[in-house]
Amino acid sequence: MDELVKQYSNGEITVVWKPGMCAHSKKCWTGLVEVFDPKKKPWIDMQGASTARIIEQVRECPSGALDFFSNDKSE
Ligand code: SF4
Repeated sequence: MDELVKQYSNGEITVVWKPGMCAHSKKCWTGLVEVFDPKKKPWIDMQGASTARIIEQVRECPSGALDFFSNDKSE
């Protein structure tokens, strides 16, 4: 099984993308092309929008290919 997982961080959060689960619904890049642009490499630019806006868009992903976790490692 191809369980490739890509991670993209802006320091605050890390967005996790599982290409094998992506349904190519285009929802992420029609919703927030400043961050999710399949024509660019890497295709996710974590500097393209605020953390809150990125989280909002990640939650719209219908396939579960996009997820995120907080980088807050308060020790
Ligand atoms: S919204 Fe999710 S399923 Fe749709 S293209 Fe983006 S990552 Fe893939």
